[in-house]
Amino acid sequence: MTNPSLLILPGDGIGPEVMAEVRKIIDWFGAKRGLNFDVSEDLVGGAAYDAHGTPLHDDTMARAHAADAVLLGAVGGPKYDVLDFSVKPERGLLRLRKEMDLFSNLRPAQCFDALADFSSLKKDVVAGLDIMIVRELTSGVYFGEPRGIFEEGNERVGINTQRYTESEIARVARSAFELAMRRGKKLCSMEKANVMESGILWREVVTEVGRDYPEVELSHMYADAGAMQLTRWPKQFDVIVTDNLFGDLLSDLAAMLTGSLGMLPSASLGAPMANGRPKALYEPVHGSAPDIAGQGKANPIACILSFAMALRYSFDQGAEAARLEAAIETVLADGLRTADLMGPDGGTPVSTAGMGDAILAA
Ligand code: ATP
Ligand code: MG
Repeated sequence: MTNPSLLILPGDGIGPEVMAEVRKIIDWFGAKRGLNFDVSEDLVGGAAYDAHGTPLHDDTMARAHAADAVLLGAVGGPKYDVLDFSVKPERGLLRLRKEMDLFSNLRPAQCFDALADFSSLKKDVVAGLDIMIVRELTSGVYFGEPRGIFEEGNERVGINTQRYTESEIARVARSAFELAMRRGKKLCSMEKANVMESGILWREVVTEVGRDYPEVELSHMYADAGAMQLTRWPKQFDVIVTDNLFGDLLSDLAAMLTGSLGMLPSASLGAPMANGRPKALYEPVHGSAPDIAGQGKANPIACILSFAMALRYSFDQGAEAARLEAAIETVLADGLRTADLMGPDGGTPVSTAGMGDAILAA
């Protein structure tokens, strides 16, 4: 049998630094667990622009389509601010998402016990928290037509259109139900059906798709109430599914319940491929962090957790993913901290490589 394939795109800034730690962990799984991947590496973002004059080469796009999963570091940096919009590093990432048609964006909010004090919320509110937000990523008000700034009478008017087709709602709902089946079998759908027609349709279609998942307990909440409940008592949720705009806000809110940007992974999933697994791109939520790039200060955990998500959702290795997450928990419980996980009175932080090595040892 051939090994599953993984395309690694380290990108810019701290991307290559955190990805180097993931490479160590991938090698460890091969050597110690007999879990081998066919890994290849390529350029994206500013690094691709420097080499090819484009933030994503056509060959790289083709390799992304062919891979079982793509793992990306980060793109962008001040060096590229002067570039024309069409070749900005971020366009490379947008092209990947668009051409792979990654409509379902998974963002976990998971609190490691050792960091429960680090959250801005009370410890009992976040300790043990483990929820997942599923955000629709390819439609809604960020894409709907008409859009633009127009002249109307003697003033300008800015227009965006919230637009969802039934099939767009159904496919993201299905991916959320599938996820709920693998987790706590509880799904909360959030929209504003009280004031938006797209919200009324959203609620109807999610309910219809839910008939195929009788084991999943489905509830509905207005998104504004959902924001309140997420900060009041987030542990009431398991999986939340919502549209592009509300998901943008709610996933950032939920993520920060848990502490640092350096801890947050994400997955973007598309339609199933021939092997039954969805097209998938995994990446840390953080960006290229130019302010700390090249200094060995970056926290590699977000990128390592993104690989753990790949193990779980692309490679059917949930037990190995849990093993990796447990190692991270151990290292944090031992008190190891990169600089981003320290308060002003903190001790001595470990380096990016120091954190990666400690996780390997654990
Ligand atoms: P983007 O536009 O790509 O999202 P950004 O400027 O919004 O980028 P980041 O690049 O993620 O955001 O950086 C925001 C802040 O968080 C910076 O101060 C950065 O140093 C810090 N940061 C981001 N990722 C990490 C990490 N992995 N470890 C430590 N600090 C990080
Ligand atoms: Mg940002």
